[in-house]
Amino acid sequence: MPTHKLLLLAGDGIGPEVMAEVKRLLAYFAKAGIAKFEVDEALVGGGCYDAHKVSITEETMAKAHAADAVIFGAVGGPKWDNVGYDVRPEAGLLRLRKDLGLFANIRPAICYPALADSSSLKREAVDGLDIIILRELTGGVYFGEPKTITDLGNGQKRAIDTQVYDTYEIERIARVGFELARKRRNKVTSMEKRNVMKTGVLWREVVADLHARDYKDVTLEHMLADAGGMQLVRWPKQFDVIVTDNLFGDMLSDIAAMLTGSLGMLPSASLGEVDAKTKRRKALYEPVHGSAPDIAGKGIANPIAMLASFAMALRYSFNMGKEADRIDEAIAAALAKGLRTADIKSDGAKVVSTSEMGEAIIGELESLSA
Ligand code: NAD
Repeated sequence: MPTHKLLLLAGDGIGPEVMAEVKRLLAYFAKAGIAKFEVDEALVGGGCYDAHKVSITEETMAKAHAADAVIFGAVGGPKWDNVGYDVRPEAGLLRLRKDLGLFANIRPAICYPALADSSSLKREAVDGLDIIILRELTGGVYFGEPKTITDLGNGQKRAIDTQVYDTYEIERIARVGFELARKRRNKVTSMEKRNVMKTGVLWREVVADLHARDYKDVTLEHMLADAGGMQLVRWPKQFDVIVTDNLFGDMLSDIAAMLTGSLGMLPSASLGEVDAKTKRRKALYEPVHGSAPDIAGKGIANPIAMLASFAMALRYSFNMGKEADRIDEAIAAALAKGLRTADIKSDGAKVVSTSEMGEAIIGELESLSA
């Protein structure tokens, strides 16, 4: 049985509550002889600030570099609203993303049949939806320089953000997209704004070149990002993997999120380059939601986004696609039996706590493995 090194960073608010369900799952995996994980834990975010006056320590950063995967809960909360910008809870997460070079953000939008009625779209548009938004995470307009606000001295100010992409940044994210598609329905849709942006012109050119060179077997289509947003809410099932830049990805992935019903259901993965020596990628897995201070401490948070994030770690870091599929099936089965946490409750469903949902999903896993 292989051993994998995990660093669990539960964080603040509901972070530790949903992470407890990952630990339950790890215990089940070890007991059932499925996989063994060497687990370390550390503080991050507000809790780390309270203890060390920083949102992540150097020691924890070293552990993150050494781990095969970082499993992250959520950080932040009103208690830390007034701490310095550099040490605010979110700074710990941004440092992890930057220092680990996590340039590829994978956000699946999956609509479980049992939840299709909680989507803002009609059931037929989303029932069985399974698409991925792949967002470039470390470049583009959020990081480009110059990034300034200048006083023009005439009562006016000028704000500048710079959208900038180099060939290698586009190529490496597109490569991740094509590789993902090959393991799915073999289709990539690349989205940019080549009609008005030079970065869009280069984006399309680089994606098309890479496709012609290495991925002719994958279907590639190009779409303007605004048209893509429209198509996402019109007929999302036409897509398989959407690859796009940091800014458009930020927006398109939030649109895709709403197709599936609740924030408590959405996992994500952020991947770095493949290490030439170890052949592994640095990776961080986290639910899309935040620390939900409004429900923290009540034991009612939905653990599904966190558990599905862990399933992504199995799939993308540990080559355990079969086990990841099982977790997804177990989640679908628990939902199909009418179990719901408060955020996804519906008429006739049984409302359960965080730990009851975690236990039910493991129960389904046991039945599926029997
Ligand atoms: P949030 O995602 O924490 O919560 C938004 C709403 O969704 C709340 O009503 C919350 O109760 C609900 N919700 C979220 N996750 C849920 C779950 N698993 N189960 C049930 N309900 C859930 O976003 P927010 O309220 O805008 O932010 C709260 C704090 O979290 C802020 O400090 C923010 O900065 C931080 N935040 C952190 C991350 C992160 O750690 N990656 C992401 C977003 C926000």
